[in-house]
Amino acid sequence: MSKKRKRYRFFEMLLFLLIGAFFFLLFYGWGVHFIGKGASPDREKPEGEAPLEQDMSFGDTSSPAKTAEVEGLEIRADHGFLPPGGEEKLTLVATFADQRQEQIDSEGINYEMMDPNLGSIRKGGIVRVSPEAKTGDVLTVKAAYKGKIAEIQLMVRYSLEDTIKVDQTGKTVVTNLDDPVILVNKERNLPNDYIPSDLVPLKIPFSFQEESPKKSLRKEAAEALEALFKKAAEEDMNLTGVSGFRSYSMQKSIYENKIKTMGEEAAGRISAFPGQSEHQTGLAIDISSTSVGNRLVENFGETKEGKWLAEHAPDFGFIIRYPKGKEEITGYSYEPWHIRYVGVNVAKEIAKRKITLDEFFALDTFETTQ
Ligand SMILES: [Zn+2]
Repeated sequence: MSKKRKRYRFFEMLLFLLIGAFFFLLFYGWGVHFIGKGASPDREKPEGEAPLEQDMSFGDTSSPAKTAEVEGLEIRADHGFLPPGGEEKLTLVATFADQRQEQIDSEGINYEMMDPNLGSIRKGGIVRVSPEAKTGDVLTVKAAYKGKIAEIQLMVRYSLEDTIKVDQTGKTVVTNLDDPVILVNKERNLPNDYIPSDLVPLKIPFSFQEESPKKSLRKEAAEALEALFKKAAEEDMNLTGVSGFRSYSMQKSIYENKIKTMGEEAAGRISAFPGQSEHQTGLAIDISSTSVGNRLVENFGETKEGKWLAEHAPDFGFIIRYPKGKEEITGYSYEPWHIRYVGVNVAKEIAKRKITLDEFFALDTFETTQ
């Protein structure tokens, strides 16, 4: 072969290859585009490639339409509880007719935030909680994809780590003082001088006559408690208020008296160290009944009033703060008389799961308010 002829053959081959490559890319690209809009937008997954091959082989007519059909749709979140101002990436998982599950990427998904005053959702399924949202608020997000609708609920909950500081004496002090879901326990102290600014006198029967700050609670808790007492009276339950708000100095004298009579260890199980009492928050109150002489005794939990209180308190936003069998977690003996206001949503979540307020802050998954 001459040199000229050789060169001609070379260009002929190159042209042939280029035309071949052009048609291959055109065809392949169209296939990817078509499938991409269909069943498998997740190109990472190996099973996502399967329908592509099926689609390319025109002989097989059974698969593409079948696999593209969405049978079920589910929104997933790694965290069911989000702090105010927090963000979370949601993922949408579709189940296809052949039971194959696949994560669906943002394209073609219509997310909707059902409570726009509590948060927002942007492209890619990223939820942002409004900084003004309160602990216990529930956000509902819906997603539509291929004719199916999925829904998820997320609860707002502040972070324990972000609501403490260490004071000059090395004591851990709570910073979200006016939050109705404030957590005060043996690790989280109130400042000595903290007195809630919105204490109001309670319009309920008390076990004693004289005027006292113990007959007050914070406004929100007071209104809820009065509603609870009204409902109790309608059902012939004789509830009595015994002790609501207590200042740091009141708690200090109670605690010091207990130490004198029973020693420090025993006192610590039944009485809070000053600054660690929920009574100082203005959100807790001790309730008893005439049937046990208005005393604060464990037996109150066995009376019809005690049982009624445990069952109905969450409907009004209250929980039994120190339940039976949770002494290791709360650090206190069972107190069927001590109820704590946390708001209806949080109270119901705690009651439903049979947990304590301390444990509520460790929950990771949130299902629904129902
Ligand atoms: Zn109490």
